[in-house]
Amino acid sequence: MPPNEDGSAGTPRPTQFLKGRANPLGEPVKERRTMKSAVLTGLRKMKLVERPVPRLISRTDVLVRMKAIGVCGSDVHYYLTGRIGSQVVKYPFAVGHECSGIVESVGSSVKSLKPGDLVAIEPAINCGSCDQCRVGRPHTCRKIKFLGCPGQIAGCLSEYIVMPEANCIKMPTGMTAEQGALAEPLAIGLYAVRSAGNVKDRNVGILGYGPIGMSVHLMLKACGVGRVYVTDKIAERLKLAKKTGAVWAGNPDVLEVDKAINGKEKAQLDIVFDCCGKQAALDQAISILKPGGKLMIIGIPTVDRVSFKMEDLRRKEITLQNVRRQNGCDHDAVRMIGSRKIRPDPMITHRFALKDVKKAFDVVAGYRDGVMKALIKM
Ligand SMILES: [Zn+2]
Ligand SMILES: [Zn+2]
Repeated sequence: MPPNEDGSAGTPRPTQFLKGRANPLGEPVKERRTMKSAVLTGLRKMKLVERPVPRLISRTDVLVRMKAIGVCGSDVHYYLTGRIGSQVVKYPFAVGHECSGIVESVGSSVKSLKPGDLVAIEPAINCGSCDQCRVGRPHTCRKIKFLGCPGQIAGCLSEYIVMPEANCIKMPTGMTAEQGALAEPLAIGLYAVRSAGNVKDRNVGILGYGPIGMSVHLMLKACGVGRVYVTDKIAERLKLAKKTGAVWAGNPDVLEVDKAINGKEKAQLDIVFDCCGKQAALDQAISILKPGGKLMIIGIPTVDRVSFKMEDLRRKEITLQNVRRQNGCDHDAVRMIGSRKIRPDPMITHRFALKDVKKAFDVVAGYRDGVMKALIKM
């Protein structure tokens, strides 16, 4: 990624919110327009504040007016506990990283976009030059700046954000702003499926059918997967899983899901995707995997440690693989939505205005009303 004018990589920094700061692009300094921004102010606390509209700092920056913003499980982690592992929120802080919007203005070097273009945002800004970036792992970049990640850059729960051109993916005609906001979770699903190797005709389990579980399912289907077994604790989600093509969907609070799946699938499963991060699900995964099977861990546990029964893991020679975010799969996810290879709209169950953002977070945090994906519509 080309550096900013001051030589640093990446884009929006807190300095851009300073009033009256000289503009490196040489535009006359005008009275700053302001925008509404939703910020976390404490545990389960959120507030709408007025902030200056962010400025273009680098020549490759793009100002995007937000159209749709998804509420993610990780945003809700920050809302409820103020942290994910060592990533701790300093208040006030704007979270949010799943979004789409309309290009409002572009820096002088931006070639691929113009005002009025509808874009989906890839939330990870990587440095492009560290060891990780050089070996094709930009998602574990040593200097990564992820939208709405504490200590990195402010999130997208605002009327406007500034992102580098490389992070703004022009959406194909016919694709909606709502679908654009789903590109990020779908890209995680795509990266998880790609990381699992050949999934064609493989029989798989998806434990936890929130937006990530469903994203994995949609991508598996697009790749010609075999039979899919799903677990979740919410009846509406199980119904949606069946509608999406699962051969079986069960609630671990109601039945012993590992026994039920092993009863139906005598040879057991080739791959299990953990999309909930619960200890019980990890145990179930090991018991429904066949020898030589693969456990893909995507869910974020709320606890610091989980454990595995070593004997089962060892005798079956199970491969464990973690999946970290989306590793640049956003572009392909957008293409797949645009070409209708996947149809993600049923994932959206709730829509809120920005002023009701706290309500949206409470619904998602409480798993209320059969919520799958809640969107903030601007
Ligand atoms: Zn997300
Ligand atoms: Zn890097």
